[in-house]
Amino acid sequence: SNGASVPALIIGTGYGGSVAALRLAQAGVPVEMVEMGMTWDTPGSDGKIFPKVTAPDKRAYWLRTKSKAPVSNFFGFPIDSDIPRYTGVLDAEEFAGITVYQGRGVGGGSLVNGGMAVTPKRTRFAGILPSVDANEMYDTYYPRANAGLGVGQIDATWFESADCYQYARVGRKHAQRSGFAWTFVPDVYDWNYMKAEQAGTVPRSALDGQVMYGNDYGKKSLVQTYLAQALATGRVNVSSLHKVTSVTPASGGGYTVTIDQINTNGDTVATKTVTAAKVFFAAGSVGTSKLLVKLKATGALPLLNNEVGKGWGDNGNVMCGRANHMWDPTGTLQSTIPCSGIDNWDAGGAFAEVAPLPTGIETYASLYLSITNTTRRAEFTWNAAANKVDLSWQTAWKQDSINMAKSIFDKINSKEGTIYRTDLFGGYKIWQDGLTYHPLGGVVLNKATDNYGRLQGYDGLYAIDGSLIPGNTTVNPFVTITALAERNIDNILANDPM
Ligand code: FAD
Repeated sequence: SNGASVPALIIGTGYGGSVAALRLAQAGVPVEMVEMGMTWDTPGSDGKIFPKVTAPDKRAYWLRTKSKAPVSNFFGFPIDSDIPRYTGVLDAEEFAGITVYQGRGVGGGSLVNGGMAVTPKRTRFAGILPSVDANEMYDTYYPRANAGLGVGQIDATWFESADCYQYARVGRKHAQRSGFAWTFVPDVYDWNYMKAEQAGTVPRSALDGQVMYGNDYGKKSLVQTYLAQALATGRVNVSSLHKVTSVTPASGGGYTVTIDQINTNGDTVATKTVTAAKVFFAAGSVGTSKLLVKLKATGALPLLNNEVGKGWGDNGNVMCGRANHMWDPTGTLQSTIPCSGIDNWDAGGAFAEVAPLPTGIETYASLYLSITNTTRRAEFTWNAAANKVDLSWQTAWKQDSINMAKSIFDKINSKEGTIYRTDLFGGYKIWQDGLTYHPLGGVVLNKATDNYGRLQGYDGLYAIDGSLIPGNTTVNPFVTITALAERNIDNILANDPM
């Protein structure tokens, strides 16, 4: 509450924030979590907490009046629709050269993501986080993160017969016929629940088109895992619809944190200040970077170093669709939860997920999200005239990623005698090159912070989210974000008096 003094304040309730909250609370430290999005626990008039991907309503988007779906067109028809402005669960945040999709709400990105929970290959780790001891990560922190998140894998036998994964079996066939390594991808979705969905014995979520705007059932988001455990300690308080706008040293020690309470229209209804001995920035790569760049430039935290804002990447995300022959239908019932990928990282720089297109009708399309080994990195800077933070990413940089993804799909198309779909992304585009789901970096570990996330220049300020990772994880990022947070909080609790 306004005027309070707290030992530890965490900005954001995604992966980094939830790990920090749990471990601090278990160590006996009372924790205040501040989250700008809503608490998603109340069904709407349709009986559901979240809308389907095919029918976005106000709950779907963060303060937009029109939906902005990654697959924007279908057979030439635009599918985005007008929606009431509301503090919905998915933010399509637009910078000059890229739209960055992020989760908003208690649970952060875990509310909206596909749950794909991938530990990078150990041989690739040195390229991901060069200053981090790989042995420690693979012996202790990746296993801890996988356990804490509830990561599991699809039953390989069930996979062969499940209607809802016909699209993935078609994806496998095409990958293997072209000689590519195809693998199952672990996920935090409850695979037994999914079996029951397919059998028709429980309410459907993954099999009812829910994912990008939230899942009512089946998915183990942070709300079911880390956050539930953190709240069970009795030492954690979460304030939703509260947005941190400033952090600055307090005269008596610690930090003054300024917080806007907002309503579901995004308007500020109250402004509060809290004094915190320690502040953990866990607002996500974009959120943490934006805050710190602004606070450094505007004089609230002038001693932050010049690495703040640098080293941001898009994890090389690029999407494409292929048009299949009539004898290769991908199925009318598609699980929204991807379960497989094509690994051509070493030879071509791309790891591609076989993604669903859950329209309810046969599309004869195979959709893919590729993660690629692009070396492009952008920087956040303070734009004083416009009073906002800019990002220097250029859309043209995605060509590197497209070329890497083509190392897979040109070959498959030539082998299968198929072509790319041109109707999915508007303007006859083959490649969805305008977005990322995987923002990473901006407050890079061992550069803007020490090797454990302590911000340079200020005792008691930490970054503990995706902002620490310099732009690429070779696979989907949240397991690495979680494992790194586990590692860093261990070191912080052992060395910094709380
Ligand atoms: P986040 O999870 O983004 O959490 C940050 C939180 O801070 C948010 O809740 C935000 O609202 C809050 N916040 C921001 N600014 C403020 C502020 N000023 N004050 C208060 N609160 C604030 N990754 C995978 O590994 N596998 C997947 O299958 C996958 N699929 C995805 C699908 C989609 C549609 C999207 C959008 C992302 C997906 N991701 C996936 C990415 C993954 O969700 C993110 O990498 C991850 O959530 C980042 O974790 P984080 O802790 O850095 O921050």
